[in-house]
Amino acid sequence: MNDNQRCSSCNEDSGYDIRPLNYHAWARSDAYGVYTGVYCDDCYESDKYPYRKDYYYDESYAGERMDDDY
Ligand SMILES: [Zn+2]
Repeated sequence: MNDNQRCSSCNEDSGYDIRPLNYHAWARSDAYGVYTGVYCDDCYESDKYPYRKDYYYDESYAGERMDDDY
């Protein structure tokens, strides 16, 4: 066990622990600069990253699911 930040998509270990989180190299933010989570480069460059600036206005974002088990 360690406290290294992990990719929110593929769970890849970033190899180090940095706080506050927004200083981490994998810390991502949306088009408004709002922190969205930790994603590795592979996921950030792919469609696994759900907050890509160029996809920000996609309808799938507006229809974001809340709680599936509600
Ligand atoms: Zn990843």
